[in-house]
Amino acid sequence: MTASDPLARYRELPRSADGKVNLDDDAWRSFLSPSEYRILREGGTEPAGTGPLTDHDAPGAYHCAGCGEHLYSSDHKFHSGCGWPAFDDEVPNAVTRLVDHSFGMRRTEIRCATCDGHLGHVFEGERLTAKNVRHCVNSASIIFVPAG
Ligand SMILES: [Zn+2]
Repeated sequence: MTASDPLARYRELPRSADGKVNLDDDAWRSFLSPSEYRILREGGTEPAGTGPLTDHDAPGAYHCAGCGEHLYSSDHKFHSGCGWPAFDDEVPNAVTRLVDHSFGMRRTEIRCATCDGHLGHVFEGERLTAKNVRHCVNSASIIFVPAG
C-alpha cells in the first residue's frame, strides 16, 4: 500500500460484526468533509454539472466516500447528460433502495448498504442503456480508484 492509497483512511473505521459502519453524528462530522457530510449524512444533492466525476471515464472502481466500500465499476458508468455521475448497474448487494417522497415526488433513494450514506436516486425505464437503469449519484458520495 502506498501513502496515496485513497482507501487507507477507511480501514481505520470501526465495523460491527456484520461489517457495517455505524458512526455517531459527531464522528461522521469529523471524518467527512463538509460537502461529503451534507450529501452522505443529510441527503443533500450537489448542483448538476459541478461534480468532478460526472464525465469521468477512466477504468477503475467507484467506492463509497463514507466507508470505502466498492459500489460501482467503471464498466457500469455511462454518460447520461443529467449532470451527475450515472451508472446502469451496481456491485451486488452494495446499494440499498428506499422510497423517497420528498419534494412531492415518488423517487427511489439509493444508499450505501454498508454505512447507510446517501448516494442519490435510481431511475428505471428511461431506455438510456440496455439495462434500462440509471443510478444518479453525487460525485461527493463516491471516490474513484484507478484500475491496476
Ligand atoms: Zn458507505
